[in-house]
Amino acid sequence: MVNINSSIEEELQKFKEISFKLGSNKNLVQAAGGNTSIKINDSMYIKASGTWLQDSLNKDIFVEVNLKSIQKKINDEIDDNFVEDIISTNDLRPSTETSFHALIKFKYVLHVHSTSTIANAVYTNSEKLLKEQLGKDIAFVPYIRPGVPLTNRMKSLINSDTQIIILENHGLIVAGDNLEKTYELLINIHNELDSLYYNDTFPVYDKEGEVDVSGYVLKNTEKYSIYCTSDQKLINIFSKSLYPDHVIFLGPGIPVFKSADDANSFNIEMNKKGINLPPFLIIEKYGLFQSNSCIDAASEMIDCFTEILLRLRLDNEIKFFTQDQENELLNWDAEIYRQTIN
Ligand SMILES: [Zn+2]
Repeated sequence: MVNINSSIEEELQKFKEISFKLGSNKNLVQAAGGNTSIKINDSMYIKASGTWLQDSLNKDIFVEVNLKSIQKKINDEIDDNFVEDIISTNDLRPSTETSFHALIKFKYVLHVHSTSTIANAVYTNSEKLLKEQLGKDIAFVPYIRPGVPLTNRMKSLINSDTQIIILENHGLIVAGDNLEKTYELLINIHNELDSLYYNDTFPVYDKEGEVDVSGYVLKNTEKYSIYCTSDQKLINIFSKSLYPDHVIFLGPGIPVFKSADDANSFNIEMNKKGINLPPFLIIEKYGLFQSNSCIDAASEMIDCFTEILLRLRLDNEIKFFTQDQENELLNWDAEIYRQTIN
């Protein structure tokens, strides 16, 4: 006789192993971003809000929730954090993106902030480009705040066969009933989009000596040479934001200064006003500087942003977040909870 509990344990273990693999790949998942779920009977196990997928195997980061109850709320378009639907007793809250996991009928749902997907999903013509590249079966969801608003928008754009969903200015969702195949499909899409385009030529500037920004260090590896510029087109991109975690962890744009003196004066003013200093700032031609008090999540997020920048088609029309979209993310209660536990 097959022991039902042990087969559930086995399914969960395999699911955690794949979640760990996704979480360990920084081009797919950065910090607490990205989430995975598995549906078993009337329950769904989903990554908890604020936890890191890379901890899937060494920490308790999944929450069991009542799938039927959440599906009913989605049906009734109720905006909720699903705290009442928690079954597990580990004192964690389900991901802020729980609702679309419940909306999708497949057993497994894997959602990542793939750098190559984001880089190809921020143009005015992204839907056309992505459908040409990946086929007509993908669903392309125009940007809307993550959470229940996004799920409501997805309802009319996916059907029961949709396995690949690209979220404009946000990321990738891949769903399926076979865990390994779903994972492989996700990796294949990321890799296919990754090989499409790469910016590798940047002007080299003759810098006059070194500059010092108090409390910051220069990120001077080759990858970061993209920031050693005075090209206004690039500077315009640095000072805007492109996807939700960009806003949450790097702020609405990275401050760019003409000189280190300007940056130092700005920081002194900020300190006087009791405002937190930015985790990163840029000095034209000299590059990107990281604050000594930068948290790990921001550090992963700048790597992600840089990988995206390197894959952006700079001659395409790019869709940046508006100030309203940035404010809506920064003031969202669920996001504030996620940031507090990071
Ligand atoms: Zn997301």
